[in-house]
Amino acid sequence: MNYERSRELYGRALSVLAGGVNSSVRATKPYPFFIERGDGAHVIDADGNKYLDYVMGYGPLLYGHDLPEPVAAAIQSHAADGPMYGAPTEVEVELAEFVARHVPSVEMMRFVNSGTEATVSAVRLARGHTGRDKIVVMQGGYHGAQESTLVEGDADNPQPSTKGIPEEFAQHTLPVPFNDPAAAEAVFAEHGDDIAAVLTEPILGNMGIVMPVGGYHETLRELCDDHGSLLIFDEVITGFRVGGLQCAQGKFGVTPDITTFGKIVGGGFPVGAIGGRAELIEQFAPSGEVFQSGTFSGHPVTMAAGLANLEYAAENDVYDHVNSLGEQLRGGLRDILADQAPEYTVVGTDSMFKVIFTRDGAADRGQQCGAGCRQDSNCPHYDHCPKTGADVADADTERWERLFWQSMKDQRIFLTANQYESQFISYAHTEADIEETLAAYAEAL
Ligand code: PLP
Repeated sequence: MNYERSRELYGRALSVLAGGVNSSVRATKPYPFFIERGDGAHVIDADGNKYLDYVMGYGPLLYGHDLPEPVAAAIQSHAADGPMYGAPTEVEVELAEFVARHVPSVEMMRFVNSGTEATVSAVRLARGHTGRDKIVVMQGGYHGAQESTLVEGDADNPQPSTKGIPEEFAQHTLPVPFNDPAAAEAVFAEHGDDIAAVLTEPILGNMGIVMPVGGYHETLRELCDDHGSLLIFDEVITGFRVGGLQCAQGKFGVTPDITTFGKIVGGGFPVGAIGGRAELIEQFAPSGEVFQSGTFSGHPVTMAAGLANLEYAAENDVYDHVNSLGEQLRGGLRDILADQAPEYTVVGTDSMFKVIFTRDGAADRGQQCGAGCRQDSNCPHYDHCPKTGADVADADTERWERLFWQSMKDQRIFLTANQYESQFISYAHTEADIEETLAAYAEAL
């Protein structure tokens, strides 16, 4: 394949953009391909190469690159009316009403402009509400590029995970292993009176997709209730992707106090949101005393895109389609791995999937999982799935990025270049696409 134009663009980009990109994960080696346009489930790069896309903008694109007619019409009409006003519009009320009707924990919302902004605001709200400073997070969890959660280590020794964050900030964050109720109980036993909130993704979506074991979220719920702390589910990835319109909290039957959203709720435009019980969300200014504000928040084009997106999903077979393709793909991948690479693991649920290159942990566990089940001891794959971020931390990232990702790219399949980040199926994908993808995996592996 010819990548001349992408190489030339990357050369120019390196002179004017840090690392040549605007988000670090995009800097694939030896240089990224620059996308010119989308076409259904495909993207076409600057050299005219066409790829089957499972990155889907890192999650926001439920429909792929060709929007259903009502969604496209809503976006065009709102953009044509003028991009934004700095005053309220009806469409932001309609989108909040839609989310409140469908997501169990949500009575009231505040829209912002990114998932990061949503988790920043949710943490501030929890601290403001409780008058406490400490936040419990999961090792291997991700909540965007924000100071309170870019923290590694454990609850006894939390450290900033990047330069630029004061060590004192990290002292307020307590990382615990996901799916370990005893560790959560221990951190509450020691710090319970100081914990403002537990902040967790319902499914770890940035660490190779780790499902919750049965009862884990219920334990977090109880610990928060017993200690007057808030439970925050970060549904930036899982919101309106896992569990359909009820999101992962509906699928798992555990209701958090606060939920953060991003990605799909904005229909492909920059978005974030914080939702929860009215008495909590009302504590944001101006009804409350927790400052929160944003020039672009509730942007009318984003709100129109998000609303039309979700209304279309409510009225059509969108989730049935993407979830059944997810099962087809994960099932096919399990068969391929059993034959060619039994030390690797298939993970995922609904329309999320990933093949994890764990060579030791997975081999010990034998067969692969990826059944799309909620992990519990009744699941036939229970012993074989990763349970914590650490279970997948030893995955062979070097092999994934240098050999596997490149081989898939050469076969014109576009995957997230990072070993740990989820891949997504859209409404535009077909059964034939899945068969083509399985053939490419078989070849690459
Ligand atoms: N929370 C989760 C679970 C995410 O996966 C992400 C981004 O991928 C974020 C928060 C941050 O969202 P954004 O990149 O829109 O700031």
